[in-house]
Amino acid sequence: MGSGKVLKCSFCEEPAITVVRYAKLRLCKKHFTEFVQRRVLKTIDRYGLVDRGWRVLVAVSGGKDSATLLHTLSTLSKELGFEVTALHIDLGIGKYSEKAKEAAEKLCKALEVPLVLLSLRELLSVELPELVAKSKRPACSVCGLVKRYLINTAALELGVQAVALGHHLDDLLPYIVKNFVLQNLGGISKLGPKTETEEVFVGRIRPLYEISESEAALYAHIQGLPVVEEVCPYAVRGESLEEEIRSFLNTVEAKRPGFKVAFARAVAKNIEFYREEAEESINKCEYCEMPTASNICAFCKLTARVLGKPMGSDVRSKVRRILAEVKTL
Ligand code: SF4
Ligand code: ZN
Ligand code: ZN
Repeated sequence: MGSGKVLKCSFCEEPAITVVRYAKLRLCKKHFTEFVQRRVLKTIDRYGLVDRGWRVLVAVSGGKDSATLLHTLSTLSKELGFEVTALHIDLGIGKYSEKAKEAAEKLCKALEVPLVLLSLRELLSVELPELVAKSKRPACSVCGLVKRYLINTAALELGVQAVALGHHLDDLLPYIVKNFVLQNLGGISKLGPKTETEEVFVGRIRPLYEISESEAALYAHIQGLPVVEEVCPYAVRGESLEEEIRSFLNTVEAKRPGFKVAFARAVAKNIEFYREEAEESINKCEYCEMPTASNICAFCKLTARVLGKPMGSDVRSKVRRILAEVKTL
């Protein structure tokens, strides 16, 4: 806001804490909170993300984005008539995972949302660092694979209608641009506001599709949501192509407020076209019956290579046992 002058909120007498340039608004805490909640509500409405009577599983990492997601969804759930259950996966990445789990537990307690906790150690007898070291693959790729598998398993076992992910505008647009440049058009279909439920795959929804990273962070901060302060030791930022694209998009946004949201809406409008380009047939894994584009799913391939046995089926049974209690809540 600059020059030390205190600007007033566009809607009341309170001092503005932020300026939302694309909406031409200066907002106080209360009105910023309402602004974000309304945007999430409109996103749900615009893209048909949730239906009345649904149960939605919200993936909560312990970070700001998923905290904002859980808070907005649990607030809107009453009005829209759906239920939320949270899921946190303890990856066993030392102090970071301990703190992330603590934050997720505190958050769910404060919001009175039931939390399902899955721990890699409990399910596989190893933790992420060991899997990464033995697989010789980049940590985030192993982590992403494991999380996708466990989220889908939990969602199937719980019988929820959708999984909500905390990906926001600034997470998604760089990957959309990258996929476009590489002409991996089918890949773009997985980065939109939702993916549909198929036989053994529970559909994903992204209610923060039109929320920026800074808005999600400010919302979590204003609400005082418990979030992990530690950064995952495997996190790399700064040098990747996605990071270059992110900073380019922010430069354009600064000059043309609203550019990023308009871009995201244009992508969503053409999502059917990208879906047709994907041409992926979904098969069931030979070992665990979970979705895969080939015969064996990525999780069974990874565990067979690293642990000497495809573990999908074992893990599914363990998850089923753990969730039996939660289901009856
Ligand atoms: Fe997993 Fe990478 Fe995120 Fe760490 S930074 S939690 S390894 S995806
Ligand atoms: Zn105000
Ligand atoms: Zn499998």
